[in-house]
Amino acid sequence: MAYDTKNVFAKILEGAIPCQKVYEDDYVLAFHDIHPKTKLHVLVIPKNAYESSLDFHATAPDHELVGYYRGLNKVIEKLGLRTSDGFRLLSNCGANSGQEVPHFHTHIFSGQHLGPMICVKRESL
Ligand code: AMP
Repeated sequence: MAYDTKNVFAKILEGAIPCQKVYEDDYVLAFHDIHPKTKLHVLVIPKNAYESSLDFHATAPDHELVGYYRGLNKVIEKLGLRTSDGFRLLSNCGANSGQEVPHFHTHIFSGQHLGPMICVKRESL
């Protein structure tokens, strides 16, 4: 599927939609989630156009992969999470995961106890 250039994160990268920026470098932009699911909820996106984690990990050149994950770690440091009680990283991919925005991103959740790793209905197992 072709990358949707009109998705909300593409518009944030263009500057057409504002964001509450946490960190930016040549490879990543990090900003607060507009509907935080935990006390601290930040999103980290690559600057180039990748629809999902599958797409990013399969096709991004090595320098973008390294740049992205170094940038993600800088965000974690900047948020003070190295010395915190912990955090969770999550990346949704595809319909079953609930991915809403078709631009690869990693969620950083922190600021409180995060509960069980995942929540699915027992009867669906
Ligand atoms: P996902 O379901 O993994 O695709 O996550 C998409 C996330 O983007 C959700 O947690 C939304 O709350 C968040 N989101 C959507 N629009 C915006 C926006 N304009 N600024 C910041 N976060 C957003």
